[in-house]
Amino acid sequence: MLVNAANQRSNFLVNVLFSLVLTLGVVVIAVVYFYGESIAEKTTNLISDDLPTYDLLHKLDKGLIEQERYLYEFYINKRESDFSRGYTNSFQQGLDTLAELQLRLGNVQPLQIIRENLTSVSKVGNEFFLNIMEPDTDWDFAIEQLRLVSEITRDTTHQTQLLVHQTERKVKVSEQKVLTGLESVRFFVVLYSVITLLIAFVVTKAIRTYLVNSVSHQRLSLFPARNPNPIISLDHKSNVTYSNPATDSLLQRLNLPMGKTHLLLDKNIRLHQEKILSETSIRSTIFEYEIDNLYFQCDLHWVEDQRQWDIHLTDVTERKRVQQELSYRATHDQETGLKNRYELEKSFTDLYAKTDAFVLGLIEIRSFNQLLTIRGLTVASTVVKEVALVIDEVVSNANLTGFQVYHTGEKSFAITNTEGLSKKDIYSLVKQIEAKISSTIFHSQDQVRLDFGFACFPEHGNDYTRLHKNALAALDKSASSEDKSHILFTVELGTKLAYEQKLIDDMRVAIEEVEFELYFQPQLELQTGTIIGAEVLIRWQRDDEWVSPAEFIPLAEKAGLIDILGDWILHTSCQKARKLVDLGFHDLVVAVNISPLQFGRKDFLEKVKQALKDTQLSAKNLELEITEGVIIYNEQETIATLESLKSLGVQLAIDDFGTGYSSLNYLKKFNIDKLKIDQSFVRNIQHESADQSIVRTIIELGRNLGLTLIAEGVEEQEQLNILKHMGCDEMQGYFFSRPLPEQEFIEFVQQQSGA
Ligand code: C2E
Ligand code: CA
Ligand code: CA
Repeated sequence: MLVNAANQRSNFLVNVLFSLVLTLGVVVIAVVYFYGESIAEKTTNLISDDLPTYDLLHKLDKGLIEQERYLYEFYINKRESDFSRGYTNSFQQGLDTLAELQLRLGNVQPLQIIRENLTSVSKVGNEFFLNIMEPDTDWDFAIEQLRLVSEITRDTTHQTQLLVHQTERKVKVSEQKVLTGLESVRFFVVLYSVITLLIAFVVTKAIRTYLVNSVSHQRLSLFPARNPNPIISLDHKSNVTYSNPATDSLLQRLNLPMGKTHLLLDKNIRLHQEKILSETSIRSTIFEYEIDNLYFQCDLHWVEDQRQWDIHLTDVTERKRVQQELSYRATHDQETGLKNRYELEKSFTDLYAKTDAFVLGLIEIRSFNQLLTIRGLTVASTVVKEVALVIDEVVSNANLTGFQVYHTGEKSFAITNTEGLSKKDIYSLVKQIEAKISSTIFHSQDQVRLDFGFACFPEHGNDYTRLHKNALAALDKSASSEDKSHILFTVELGTKLAYEQKLIDDMRVAIEEVEFELYFQPQLELQTGTIIGAEVLIRWQRDDEWVSPAEFIPLAEKAGLIDILGDWILHTSCQKARKLVDLGFHDLVVAVNISPLQFGRKDFLEKVKQALKDTQLSAKNLELEITEGVIIYNEQETIATLESLKSLGVQLAIDDFGTGYSSLNYLKKFNIDKLKIDQSFVRNIQHESADQSIVRTIIELGRNLGLTLIAEGVEEQEQLNILKHMGCDEMQGYFFSRPLPEQEFIEFVQQQSGA
């Protein structure tokens, strides 16, 4: 196409230039001819007219002078014969010359004067001759006559000079005209030469372009033949007019009969052709189609000037397979082969459009991180695969239809159901999955537990984000409460979550504005009753109402606020402890509650050191209360941190002892000082023998390990007595004192020490 256009352009250019050269040539020939004619005429005039005129005038002049000379010679030597021959001759010659001049110049005035002069000279000459020949020559008269002749001769010469000047002027004008003519001819010849040169240059270029084009055209014409991809041409009626050798190879490869080239084309090619023909701005299109499991890309071009279709086929099967593979990978989980999170999100667009109601269920493997850290990645991913299989199997064998299972994250799965899953169905499905999970012997022999959360469209959310969030909330709730009745999201749960969110927002402000306060609950020695220290408990008055730390601390942990809040508590507790020391209570120990998240931070140890350093507090006045929860993760790191804290001189207590994992194993490994018997065992100790047994066991255990024992939540004298009897070392509780504001606590201690 391009080559054609270039050739057409070159042709046009060549034609234009040729016409130009021709026209200019004709013009130049005309000009040269015209000026040549005129120059020739002028030159001829000069040669045939003007130059002889010159000669004649000259001759006339000479004749007159000669005539005058004859008179003078005759005057001197009186030789008659000489005079009559010479003088008459020259006179006759003068007349002839004059006649000739008159022929050339016409009877112009100077010639008339000259003729009269000649006649006068002849008359005077004759009289002069007769006078001289007289025996008594009148010499005076003779001299007078000679003078007259000289005068006439001068006048005649003057006339001839006039004519000479006239002729000269004429010659000059002719010469000027000849020169101008020559100048014009030269100008046109030079102009023509320059234009011809320019044209030659342009034509050379055009020729070169043409040659280059024709070479590339030749090469291009070989291109289809050598092209490894099929190239097919169709005429405007879609009959095959050309196909290259690669087309035959493809026919062979597909076991199609030779010559049946049209079988290689897409069945829908007509539609593409119609589209191209209907829109003038489109001359080509690219589309893909399949023949016998092979995929082809078809470049379809409509070649307007040749009224034919050019088709280039490329086998894109490999690329298609890779694309399919990539798309599979992008939409499916590699390990389980289940659709992934993106597919779940994407499926929602469809679900909204097609169904009025559907259910979204989320499933998570409980304590997966623990499994991962303890058993490693390989075992963990085997467990994930096995769980995926169980879920898929239960869902496939369920009486209901309309399920789709997704693997949405490392430990997370999702189920959607579009067939109106009822609340009862949801519980039954969960039961089936749980039953199957507990009966499955996992390859890793691990006990696997799952958490579930369900939400229904549209009542629990009308977009993916909200529905997912609510299903997750139900999952969190059921997991944290260990109560399966919470697996389905409820409006109440939603209200609670909204309340919690508000609390979190307010807490953020409260942290900024330091709306928190620290209270101190005294701890005393059971045997002696002396105050040995206090537990620091945070207090927050929000809109004139106290919010329980049991409520907001877990939320602070959830919202990521515990670090900043914990830092403040630690730092402020050390400050207050330092104040107590300054007041003279050198041995009082301030016990600070540390959240497991706070303890788990890499820089926790540094923060403790910094707080002690900033407040100049001795480490022995600081106790940290940690729960068994901190021990679950990263046992090695926990041991290391505890060791470092211990070597600083900070005291360590295990809070709420007996309620957590109760893996007694860690007590051996961890270098701690104190066990804090949880208040749940103390609450009914006077009535419940089971609680008594537990507390007794804990005390014995602590004893054996050389740990101090403190009981919390002591409210009654009876409880105190039992604990004392059991050998508990210390206690804390309402019986002795509620948590007190700082000033009240100081007064309390002062009173006690004074008492
Ligand atoms: P905890 O560490 O077990 O704290 C003891 C809780 O028992 C305190 O509740 C305290 O007021 C209460 N208590 C003390 N004596 C008695 C008693 O005789 N009877 C009864 N029924 N309760 C008693 P509080 O202050 O509401 O704290 C609740 C929980 O909040 C704490 O449990 C602790 O886990 C957390 N917490 C409180 N302050 C802080 C803090 O500063 N930092 C962190 N990380 N957690 C804190
Ligand atoms: Ca505590
Ligand atoms: Ca406690």
